[in-house]
Amino acid sequence: MQDGKINLRSLLPEELAAELKAMGQPAYRAKQVFDWLTHGAGSCGEMSNLPKSLRAALDDRFFLGSPKVLRKQVSAEDGTVKYLWGLRDGNAVETVVMRYHYGNSVCISTQVGCRQGCAFCASTIGGLVRNLDAGEMLEEVMFSEKESGLKIGHIVLMGIGEPLDNFDNVVKFLQLVNHPEGMNIGMRHISLSTCGLIEKFDKLAELNLQLTLSVSLHAPDDETRSKIMPANRGRGVSELIDKCEAYFKKTGRRISFEYAMIDGVNDSEQQAALLAKHAKRVSAHVNLIPLNHVDERAFLQPTPPDRIQSFKKLLEREGINVTVRRSLGGDIDASCGQLRKKAADALGAGTEKR
Ligand code: SAH
Repeated sequence: MQDGKINLRSLLPEELAAELKAMGQPAYRAKQVFDWLTHGAGSCGEMSNLPKSLRAALDDRFFLGSPKVLRKQVSAEDGTVKYLWGLRDGNAVETVVMRYHYGNSVCISTQVGCRQGCAFCASTIGGLVRNLDAGEMLEEVMFSEKESGLKIGHIVLMGIGEPLDNFDNVVKFLQLVNHPEGMNIGMRHISLSTCGLIEKFDKLAELNLQLTLSVSLHAPDDETRSKIMPANRGRGVSELIDKCEAYFKKTGRRISFEYAMIDGVNDSEQQAALLAKHAKRVSAHVNLIPLNHVDERAFLQPTPPDRIQSFKKLLEREGINVTVRRSLGGDIDASCGQLRKKAADALGAGTEKR
């Protein structure tokens, strides 16, 4: 909701049909409007095959987010494209399109800023400004595809923000992007990453979505995890693992643990052993990420590559399925944790709190 209006792109096709019916419109109008939405119309005024009175009536209640490219960077190394999108209210978010051998994947933001306060992450530095609505998240995918000309087949909710802190809008976005009449992207091609807001896990499991849940674990013991991830305080690792197990049992979907390796903080042999124990219990896949540099967090350094390899071997010896994540778009700061709204300030796009 912005200025008392709803983003028209946040409506599912069936909701749109019901709205138009309630406005006394014939059934074929819903298809007409939906076509305009999926083709990236910027306003209801553009919908030239609708009567003027209907366009005005829609304009009264709805807006159409049509993000503007404030900045576009293309990696010379691997073709990764990073967008800074200007939103309707002057805020801005970043979206990254990555090119893999299996197809293109888009990494979207779910909030403007973030309030989770992880010690190593750049997105949280300015705090939370506001949630994105479902249509705005859909627009990140739609407009990135349209602007880059790269067909999107996979989505990761790993940009700015904590998806489970914006639960209802994120679920609505998932329904929208998965809708057969919309972009029709399969749930199995979508990953949702969370710092572990466990009070939302059961609710998510109930929906039984076939997406991949990635849990940003980053430390297997409470002392370390609470130090670097405030979300752990008052919850704790053992409760998190219990919830992961319940989630896996309910959905049958294997969880992935994200683990950014920080020199001297979370990379000891004892921590590898404890991590292996947790991963084994929930049959999780472990994704080791070399820590990405963040200027304001320069006191945290990445674990050197040889020690990442020995940490990996310790996990493998315990039978854990483990990978070291390849970093894409390094030359354009497109790696995880490096997306931040400060880029918008630099461009003078305005990032006022609402
Ligand atoms: N809030 C969600 C999703 C956004 S962050 C979450 O916490 O999972 C996406 C991933 O990047 C998370 O695993 C996050 O912990 C990780 N990340 C953040 N800063 C990083 C950094 N400097 N280096 C490596 N990974 C980082």
